[in-house]
Amino acid sequence: MAYKLPELGYRFDALEPHIDSKTMEIHYKYHFAAYLNNFNAAIEDTELEVQTPSEIFSKVSKYRKTVRNNGGGFFNHAMFWKIISPHSYGSIDIDLFDAIIKYFGTLYHLKEEFSVAASDQFGSGWAWLIKRNNGELQVTSTSNQDNPLMDVCPVRGTPILCLDVWEHAYYLKYQNRRTDYIQAFWDLINWDEVANLYHKQPALKEII
Ligand code: MN
Repeated sequence: MAYKLPELGYRFDALEPHIDSKTMEIHYKYHFAAYLNNFNAAIEDTELEVQTPSEIFSKVSKYRKTVRNNGGGFFNHAMFWKIISPHSYGSIDIDLFDAIIKYFGTLYHLKEEFSVAASDQFGSGWAWLIKRNNGELQVTSTSNQDNPLMDVCPVRGTPILCLDVWEHAYYLKYQNRRTDYIQAFWDLINWDEVANLYHKQPALKEII
């Protein structure tokens, strides 16, 4: 049972001017598709074919590196496409908002902490907002295509918000200005989808 390329849900140019059309097209058609194809090839005819990505990631250290890199690449991007939207708006689910206030003080402080994590991630990687098993929200970052569901990560939890800070995600438009890209990201958040992920823990099947 191979995974299929999920639909993006909006046009490549829909996130302009924050994320340019060419970047979205290359990112989706080539980077994302390559992770998907390589992940399918890595799990084909193995016991991993019938396991969810969450199950695989929870013991990913046992498997070949290609499972970790391409499984992460597929899952992380599938989630990223969902939590950004051309129709971002200001209202946030009340339970999620209460949790943000409880753990960060204000939404501004969450954005600040997350943006620092995204900015400070050295080289390729991702910034994350995760929900830990005890319900606590926490900001973290990972290298390459790792994610906080993986047993190789020191800070683990279920991701509810993520940002790709690989250069391929922003270089055409922003070049070395990663912080400008991070700033623009906050205008694209699909808070409905973030709230869905917050409430549907720990099942993430709906992402892909
Ligand atoms: Mn990417």
